[in-house]
Amino acid sequence: MDRFTDAILRKHAETTKKHLEERHFGCTLVEDEKEALSLIQSMIKKGDTVSVGGSMTLFETGVIDYLEHNTEITYLDRYHTNDVHDVFRKAFSADVYITSTNALTMTGKLFNVDRNGNRVAAMIYGPKKVIVLAGINKIVKDDEAAIKRIQTMASPANCLRLKQDTPCTKTGFCVDCRSDARLCASHVMQDYCHIEDRIHVIIMMKEAGY
Ligand code: SF4
Repeated sequence: MDRFTDAILRKHAETTKKHLEERHFGCTLVEDEKEALSLIQSMIKKGDTVSVGGSMTLFETGVIDYLEHNTEITYLDRYHTNDVHDVFRKAFSADVYITSTNALTMTGKLFNVDRNGNRVAAMIYGPKKVIVLAGINKIVKDDEAAIKRIQTMASPANCLRLKQDTPCTKTGFCVDCRSDARLCASHVMQDYCHIEDRIHVIIMMKEAGY
């Protein structure tokens, strides 16, 4: 990206951080996946139980690989289990839950959609600490733009990735379908962190995820 684009995106990130903190979310700006991973490592203590929400960002940044190879923690691994719903339920008592977000507004709110509801539920209540890792591409101006982002990018792209036969994989945007394959059952906006810094958002100055 050129320096002017970079300058504008940094302003977006700084504005988002300011407004997240006003809403009692924690927030750290980092340059890249290396810095993001190092920060996440510093937030996980020896002996912690850690779980994750479904997220391409966590794969792209090396977080999943780190968790799989960390022998000092108990990793509730949703990707290698015969009973994923058992992992989902156990995640509610985890020390640390790591996820991304579908959209992050410059006004300081998190927007997410979920099929099972396990991810948004754990973000709202349960794990002692929630770490949200978001690429700069997740930042949008306001609530309306967040919903639009989900309907025109996050949900269709996730349906495509998971090979779901939903209308949005053909149109590229949401048509509010009634498909059994529909990934978006619960739409959640989080606009305040009831325990200050329980949810800590890491904004990376690089694109990641959808
Ligand atoms: S409601 Fe249906 S069409 Fe809309 S994003 Fe979800 S799966 Fe796609």
